[in-house]
Amino acid sequence: MAIAQEPPTTVPQAGNVAGVSQEEWATQFAAQSGPATRLGPFESVHVFWLAGMSCDGCSIAVVGATMPSVESLLTGSLPGVPIVFLHHTALQVEAGEAFMEPMRKAVRGELGAPYVVVYEGSIADETKAAALGGYWSAIGEEDNPEHPGEMRQVPSAVWMKRLAPGAAAVVAIGTCATWGGIPAAYGNPTAAMSVQDYLGRDYRSTLGVPVVNVPGCSPVGDNFTETVAAVLLFLQGIGPLPEFDDLGRPAWLFGETVHRNCTRAGYYEEGTFAEHYGDKECLVEIGCWGPVVNCNITSRGAINHIGGCMNVGGPCIGCTMPGFPDRFAPFYKAPPGTFVSGTASKLVGSFVRPLRRVTQRYANRETRWDTTGVVSSGWGAPKTPTFVDKLIHIAYDRMRHGGTTAKNF
Ligand code: SF4
Ligand code: SF4
Repeated sequence: MAIAQEPPTTVPQAGNVAGVSQEEWATQFAAQSGPATRLGPFESVHVFWLAGMSCDGCSIAVVGATMPSVESLLTGSLPGVPIVFLHHTALQVEAGEAFMEPMRKAVRGELGAPYVVVYEGSIADETKAAALGGYWSAIGEEDNPEHPGEMRQVPSAVWMKRLAPGAAAVVAIGTCATWGGIPAAYGNPTAAMSVQDYLGRDYRSTLGVPVVNVPGCSPVGDNFTETVAAVLLFLQGIGPLPEFDDLGRPAWLFGETVHRNCTRAGYYEEGTFAEHYGDKECLVEIGCWGPVVNCNITSRGAINHIGGCMNVGGPCIGCTMPGFPDRFAPFYKAPPGTFVSGTASKLVGSFVRPLRRVTQRYANRETRWDTTGVVSSGWGAPKTPTFVDKLIHIAYDRMRHGGTTAKNF
């Protein structure tokens, strides 16, 4: 949609509500930390955060990151990592033309520092919107050559096309940017797609890497900041190129399934399953896809190592996966494979659970209680081992001490 407006000023805005521009504060931080913290050739790096078909959940997740935090990236307090100039529509302190100018400089190759492009949200087919005189998502405006004197919005997809060739890295954050996500679900009226679908499989950044994908809806904020820090260390020549898997995900973050680190995995192994939301057992029979989903939220937590889907009672719906949401819908219905694996777990669990209870009764007693016959707890009386329990543990203890010189009690 073409909107007639005054041409933008070319005078950069100095200062803001914080009373200081991003460059001014970065200069102050750099002066305080000294050159010793910058071990590579770059003092600073620009990060252009573009938003497409997004709900802004990725931004919210990232500002909650703690290891490392966004603040530590912005203040250059991570040894070896250059100070990050973050250009983000909601978080940057500058506005208006002062916000736009660094992007324009980057496109012209005049930025004077390397830059990384981060994309949040999927990329819709802007030609569909343009045919109706509008746009799906845009950042800033520029002269409209078709209507001299008028301005037009610049779709964030166009910014991506302009910025990607000169970027040290392009990072897609969140499932919409990595795989298309919800906007690209079945039906897909905007023809939304992922960043790598948009740039193509031959795309390489100036560092020679394809699009880096940090999926999740929303992603774990630490997964993003840690990946960016690792890429920046590589840029400085200090760290190795981080390892990515075939889908461009940081391999050290997405190599395991949810299930392997789930706090409820013990229930699965013993074949006990939740029937209702709020139950404490494994959630697979009420729709958890954790056994086949690559995601580290069960070990990393959602924020500051706290929370995470099944830790707070939520079944995994596969939000980090390229097939999300279509291949995991309908949500909260047991995955078909559950019948086989769940039945096997129930069968094994029906043997294992009673045996573990016998051992637990034995291990929950002091040796003294057996010799004196008195349990000193004023809170209650642990169950006395039955005759069968005792027989089992005589055999068990013999096996336990077998092959050692320890005395068999
Ligand atoms: S809740 Fe999900 S991830 Fe956790 S043990 Fe059960 S199936 Fe695995
Ligand atoms: S556990 Fe599943 S639903 Fe939760 S963040 Fe990971 S992939 Fe998404």
